[in-house]
Amino acid sequence: MRVAVVTVGDELLRGDTVDTNATWLCDRLDERGVDVERVTTLPDRIADIARVVNEYHAEYDAVVVTGGLGPTHDDVTMEGVAAAFGRDVEPHTEALEWLTEHGGYHAADLTEGTTDLPAGARMIPNEVGVAPGAVVGSVYVLPGVPEEMKAMFESIAREFEGTPTYSETVHTTEPESQLLDRIRGVQEEFDVTVGSYPGDGVRLKITAVDPATVEAAADWLRDRVESED
Ligand code: ATP
Ligand code: MG
Repeated sequence: MRVAVVTVGDELLRGDTVDTNATWLCDRLDERGVDVERVTTLPDRIADIARVVNEYHAEYDAVVVTGGLGPTHDDVTMEGVAAAFGRDVEPHTEALEWLTEHGGYHAADLTEGTTDLPAGARMIPNEVGVAPGAVVGSVYVLPGVPEEMKAMFESIAREFEGTPTYSETVHTTEPESQLLDRIRGVQEEFDVTVGSYPGDGVRLKITAVDPATVEAAADWLRDRVESED
């Protein structure tokens, strides 16, 4: 399964907020064996959201969008996603029912627009906050507040599935430029991919579907690179 992650918010693009949602989603999707192939951050602007969601919906098996769900003027993600599908946003009956029956709210107390979702969307309840999420086609729209986003993702995580992989990391004190022969060697010897991450020595991350192959490849490398211990 190939997925794109889209985070929405002017504050992310200004550097005011660190985009921890993208990293967290990449990590959780990777754990489930899903390939994340794009992470894109967009401003709170309907046209940009509509264009990118439309493109990614055509290209990937699913798109996960976070941020900009509340009913304030700068929260335009639902409008953007609706526009990507050529739909309007409209009050969602189930979202209102959920908030009044489970959320403990009176309909009259909810800020106008709180239950507006793209027409025909499936509602995802927000167990932690107020603004509901939505699924339109294979586009999942989650809140920006990290705790709300995480809880909502966990409620739909089962819909994201791929082939889980295993990894092991070998640390070496050698410079990256000296390691090329062994990086090539381990890939010739074993059916694994190798990531090379320099900074305080080099971390060589070995990944494959079969854990025994990963372990054998890691042992092979440990025998052939210099390390502190
Ligand atoms: P609300 O309904 O509270 O307005 P929302 O879904 O509209 O929530 P945003 O308005 O985009 O979400 O952001 C709410 C808060 O979550 C902000 O304080 C922001 O700092 C934080 N946030 C938003 N996006 C991210 C992100 N990608 N990574 C980390 N924090 C984020
Ligand atoms: Mg908001």
